[in-house]
Amino acid sequence: MLKRNIHIANLKAGYLFPEIARRRRDFAESHPDAKIISLGVGNTTEPLLPHICEGLVEGARRLGNVKTYSGYMDEGLEELRVLINNVFYNSQFAADEIFISDGAKCDIGRLQTLFGKDVKTAVQDPSYPVYVDGSVISGAAGAWDDSGYSGITYLPCTPENEYFPDLSVIKTGSLIYFCSPNNPTGAVAAKDQLSLLVKRALETNSIIIFDAAYSEYIRDSSLPKTIYAIAGAENCAIEVNSFSKSAGFTGVRLGWSIVPKTLKFSGGESVNADWARIQSTLFNGASNIAQFGALAALSGEGRKELTALTDFYLENARLIQNAAQQLSIECTGGSNSPYIWARFPGEESWDVFKRILEKCHIVTTPGSGFGPSGESFIRFSAFGHRESVEEACKRLLTVNWR
Ligand code: PLP
Repeated sequence: MLKRNIHIANLKAGYLFPEIARRRRDFAESHPDAKIISLGVGNTTEPLLPHICEGLVEGARRLGNVKTYSGYMDEGLEELRVLINNVFYNSQFAADEIFISDGAKCDIGRLQTLFGKDVKTAVQDPSYPVYVDGSVISGAAGAWDDSGYSGITYLPCTPENEYFPDLSVIKTGSLIYFCSPNNPTGAVAAKDQLSLLVKRALETNSIIIFDAAYSEYIRDSSLPKTIYAIAGAENCAIEVNSFSKSAGFTGVRLGWSIVPKTLKFSGGESVNADWARIQSTLFNGASNIAQFGALAALSGEGRKELTALTDFYLENARLIQNAAQQLSIECTGGSNSPYIWARFPGEESWDVFKRILEKCHIVTTPGSGFGPSGESFIRFSAFGHRESVEEACKRLLTVNWR
């Protein structure tokens, strides 16, 4: 028999969302009449909009015709890379600085192989679990004790610091994960805050992995949608993004990463060249069909659909925010983000999760699953059908659960 990978054995607990699903299943089995509503996971619920859907159908049609058939397309459609560059980055990058992928999560996993197990890591706390769990699997996180993993510097983001962390604790030569709009807190960093982040990365010779998966939820035009809105970011940041939350591509799978050629390792080697090597070794290119869907999503008609879809989820977020306000629950997020982060002082997140499930039959996400500073918080997700969100809000307001 082979020995288990010791890094996997180092994972503290099961991945958060399977654990929530298990608890939901157990509750449903013991309460077969309960009509459970999920405001828990960040999975999209609304169907693809017509123009984007037609782009996918066209992509499939092309594969069925000898004249337009295509096989492996490692680097991604040139036309799509040009569109991404124009639409999101003001044409700032060359085509070979844009890498089309099967999604931001997959890219984050592969990016960790770029830096290896000896890299120091800094994460916002709370944060999307993949940054920490991926670092554990790659061996970079070190040993676990009650305060967290020894190889990870946690950057607490709390109401007290308005969800922007103290950057002075970031060590020299760190890989810094930063997500804005943030999952789970829904907080969005302002331009001057991202300028401080870039400044700190440059002065500590660190690299930022900027996760912009929710950038299309930003409605306040003063808030940056990309780290490259900040001068100097091209020397210290990689960005990942995706069509999952903006176009409903969670099941279609399409994302991208930006690795500027100006970004270098401490020895002067090109990060872009190594990333190209890793992608061509560990990944065989995104689905051609999905890329045609993305082309449609970035056309004039498709962009109107992106706005309509994100507006729909933002309206759900507003309804949840409204209910929380009526209940005098302290909340953040929900205005430029699909997540609402609700505080329950003095209580443990899993206890609040349990109470909302048992009394209201609503699944939420316990904040402690996102990191130590998430304790006493609950994340409400705005991904849901309108009638489910309305019914959930009604239950939260009428059932005596607090
Ligand atoms: N990044 C963040 C912050 C997320 O919340 C998620 C999904 O929930 C992802 C990335 C995953 O994106 P994708 O579907 O493109 O893999």
